[in-house]
Amino acid sequence: MPVVPVRKFPPSVNPNRASLILRSDKKWANGTILHYYFFDKSTDGEQVFFNDGTSTFVSWSGTEDEKNVVRKAFETWKKVGIGLEFKEVDNRDEAEIRIGFMKGDGAWSYVGRDILSIGRNKRTMNFGWDLTRSGEIDTALHEIGHTLGFPHEHQNPNAGIVWDEEAVINELAKPPNNWSRETTIHNIIRKIDPDSVQGSNWDPDSIMHYPFGPGLIISPEEFQDGILPKPGLSARDKAWVKNFYAPLKKTDYTALKPFESIPLEIEEGQQRNFTITPGATRKYDIRTFGISDTVMVLFEDVHGELRYRTGDDDSGEDYNASFRIKLYKGRKYVLRIRLYYRDRAGETAVMIW
Ligand SMILES: [Zn+2]
Repeated sequence: MPVVPVRKFPPSVNPNRASLILRSDKKWANGTILHYYFFDKSTDGEQVFFNDGTSTFVSWSGTEDEKNVVRKAFETWKKVGIGLEFKEVDNRDEAEIRIGFMKGDGAWSYVGRDILSIGRNKRTMNFGWDLTRSGEIDTALHEIGHTLGFPHEHQNPNAGIVWDEEAVINELAKPPNNWSRETTIHNIIRKIDPDSVQGSNWDPDSIMHYPFGPGLIISPEEFQDGILPKPGLSARDKAWVKNFYAPLKKTDYTALKPFESIPLEIEEGQQRNFTITPGATRKYDIRTFGISDTVMVLFEDVHGELRYRTGDDDSGEDYNASFRIKLYKGRKYVLRIRLYYRDRAGETAVMIW
């Protein structure tokens, strides 16, 4: 996982509110179509410099067999029965997820919505070794798990793992990872914020858990000989991905009409979905009301495929999510709102006008 600064909140955000924001802030609006692209141009790659002063160009392109492993991994996540969708595109400008196969660069992905801030010609995910070897689909499932917003399970502070830190650093410095001390600390030894992990229990079988050989873990004692997570997605992986990305049915959508405010009536972490069919072509304001943190995203139905139009995230701020946008008569729109946090005293509502 590339190093991304830990989010800080102003003092006005109480710890409970911060904790609820951290649980959801990297997750996608459920129902989003995530487009993925494989780098394919001869110029897609990087010049790598060696200690002896020589350099060589390493391509980001993969073989068709390697791409098939990644395609299969997307399918495997989808088959859990989630509301997110995955679609391969051959144009990087349309892709949120941009995948490289740069050998020697390790396997990694940015986490969740962080990928939106990565430049169009950069990778958001890489596979640095041969993915066609048996069992390597788990590497693809793991990196896609990051893109869906899930952190490392072996960094779950509830796991209570005590590392032999020098042994871990030495182990990961070897190929195929070739990690620096800092990278190993970031990806393994550092405990992540308890608020961003999934639930209170440790799941050593999670796809988000690395396998570890003997001699790296001091305690719990039973793992001194190593941990080998079971292949594939664990029962808890499946439960958690459905918790954030439940399957969406027609009945999950409510019509949102001008000047009618609709209470969200959902729990923190959950999402409401609305359809908007404008009666006139004009600029509209859409806003949430109530003391709350929400992320609100608008999509337009273009020939049956929902395309992102705009969004606003007011988490940790003291304003409400809102935008003004021109909508067209005869077109259909979908508005999705995920609630991070709401004040105990009040309800949160949405209105268009
Ligand atoms: Zn990882």
